[in-house]
Amino acid sequence: MIEMQDVFMTYPNGVVALNGISVKIEQGEFVYIVGHSGAGKSTFTKLMFREEVPMKGTITVNNKDVSKLKWKDVPYFRRSIGVVYQDFRLLPKLTVYENIAFALEVIEESPKNIRARVMKVLDQVGLKNKARFIPDELSGGEQQRVAIARAIVNRPSILIADEPTGNLDPDTSWEIMRILEEINASGTTIIMATHSKEIVDTVRKRVIAMEDGTIVRDEHRGEYGYEV
Ligand code: ADP
Ligand code: ADP
Repeated sequence: MIEMQDVFMTYPNGVVALNGISVKIEQGEFVYIVGHSGAGKSTFTKLMFREEVPMKGTITVNNKDVSKLKWKDVPYFRRSIGVVYQDFRLLPKLTVYENIAFALEVIEESPKNIRARVMKVLDQVGLKNKARFIPDELSGGEQQRVAIARAIVNRPSILIADEPTGNLDPDTSWEIMRILEEINASGTTIIMATHSKEIVDTVRKRVIAMEDGTIVRDEHRGEYGYEV
């Protein structure tokens, strides 16, 4: 569960990115975050995994007060949240397998467990046959599937996807959506910031719309609501 109460966030340069956010997201929900560029969508998600810390307000994730986490406890906390980005962010010199295994090696899993986990998530995203490829040898959609596999390999309770289809053509975007829906069906909360009116209006979910650092709309099975 994610809960924010009266959250304000100002960047060091004085930009007010969030201007009083209160919201509650239950475990297992699928939530789209929509709104124009600069509305605060990324900042909103970054607060959830302690990439940024709010100036004011409380953020509770899985019963932990995120703002009060000690720096040494942040890495452990972050294992409960997977993140994927528009630009994939894979390590270019590592193979697909290594990109995913890396996330487990840093937490000292046994080699046998690592192998089993990596092959399982590769199977989930349909890329078992590309384990030895490097990112440059894959299409954009395949790279995003690797990024998703990496994000879920630790079995996080929450998956944050910041414009995951922003660099992909429509067909490939739908493949990514199908994978995100499968992950959601297994109980993982999905928070997806997106500019895709087509996806939001077709696959109806909760929609949180942001403008100027505030939530202006929060609807069950909502619509995109902006012109594209
Ligand atoms: P969105 O994801 O909706 O495009 P962001 O959360 O990225 O919105 O940005 C909200 C506001 O905060 C914007 O005005 C943006 O320019 C500003 N901003 C974002 N990141 C930083 C940063 N690291 N330093 C200063 N300002 C930032
Ligand atoms: P407190 O003990 O007051 O909770 P933390 O140790 O959690 O303080 O650190 C507060 C903030 O300082 C963190 O959110 C982080 O942004 C920054 N910080 C602390 N230690 C480091 C570090 N080793 N590297 C980078 N940033 C750090």
